[in-house]
Amino acid sequence: MNNLQQYDPEIFHLIEQEERRQRDKIRLIASENYVSTAVMAATGSVLTNKYSEGYPGKRYYEGQQYIDQVESIAIERAKTLFKAEHVNVQPYSGSPANLAVYLAFLKPGDTILGMALPHGGHLTHGAKVSISGKYFNAEFYTLDETTGRLNYDAIRETALRCKPKILIAGHSAYSRILDFPAFRKIADACGALLLVDMAHFAGLVVGGVHPTPIPYADVVTTTTHKSLRGPRGAMIFCKQEYAAAIDKAVFPGLQGGPHNNTTAAIAVALKEAATDDFRLYAQQIVKNAQALAATLLDRGFNLVTGGTENHLMLIDLTNKGITGKVAAKALDAAGIVLNYNAVPYDTRKPFDPSGIRLGSAAVTSRGFKEEQMVQIGKWIDAIVADPSNLQLQQETATAVQRLCIGFPAPGLEHLAA
Ligand SMILES: *Cc1c(COP(=O)(O)O)cnc(C)c1O
Repeated sequence: MNNLQQYDPEIFHLIEQEERRQRDKIRLIASENYVSTAVMAATGSVLTNKYSEGYPGKRYYEGQQYIDQVESIAIERAKTLFKAEHVNVQPYSGSPANLAVYLAFLKPGDTILGMALPHGGHLTHGAKVSISGKYFNAEFYTLDETTGRLNYDAIRETALRCKPKILIAGHSAYSRILDFPAFRKIADACGALLLVDMAHFAGLVVGGVHPTPIPYADVVTTTTHKSLRGPRGAMIFCKQEYAAAIDKAVFPGLQGGPHNNTTAAIAVALKEAATDDFRLYAQQIVKNAQALAATLLDRGFNLVTGGTENHLMLIDLTNKGITGKVAAKALDAAGIVLNYNAVPYDTRKPFDPSGIRLGSAAVTSRGFKEEQMVQIGKWIDAIVADPSNLQLQQETATAVQRLCIGFPAPGLEHLAA
């Protein structure tokens, strides 16, 4: 960093400020985490200098003596950890991973069926503004209006009516465990491939606190940077019979050279994820989410589905007389960072919806336990009750910083308090 400081003080200074922000704030954005110093070191390594289009042993450029080994190690670790027949570790991120799956199995205009975006699905599951909704005929299933939960009978009905080529299970904002055997049965009933996108909960699968989709799905995609706590990247798991189609779709179908520095960092993150420490971490993520959920429920917050079984919760703030955006901005000023989010059947617009989304993966990485989660819930309650009280926000931000300093985050241990 010394060199960066001298050459480009402007960027150096901004990185430094971002480091402090990550150190001093309670980060509840459900898709974020803190990678270890080891993962960070691999990400920032000379592997970024190397081109290696192709796959280990079959490259289009020479000089792959070390890169081939790095990618092979990442592949072996991923297959072992998730008990998968095949994996591709090259997708640049979660969105291109999903596009690669579509490229492997679909023609433009084919039908896909996924969870609707305002109900917790992802953009790449067919949203109109996404290429997945422009190039394919996207159909959607929704959450039950009274329970806020998936209704598998209703999904089955929709699937039998629209006959998708790919049925997608997976979400960015659903606080309940998915029933993979039920999804498998629906896919079989309508003749679809089953794609499970476990971007959000892959780390929980590793920790044994969320069932694994691997035995049920034809293809499983995941990001590597959410609960799995690796670098920004993605992986695609599949049955052996689809291996060639998936690999061809990633390269040369959609991408050029893989980001080898990311591949190395994924390998490091997978080594970390295979430890007992990571299992305990994943278990604590769920305990922490439940402690925060209980604190908020006690204080009259309306949690979609009434609680959580994973790392996240979605809160409908309508009964609190405040919009998601106003709440998120007030909380940010108070040192608690989360995102505003649409809730199912939201009557407000996506840019100022009725809800907020909270996740426990990042704060659990810095060692927060139930006690700290209860404290966070109390702070959220106070700020949401009085969102224009700037003095309260200031005081809370100071208390938040004091709490955070006592729990050094992975990757930021070098920052003196
Ligand atoms: C985050 C996410 C993605 C996309 O990941 P990017 O890396 O942001 O492209 C895909 N699917 C789901 C369900 C996600 O939550």
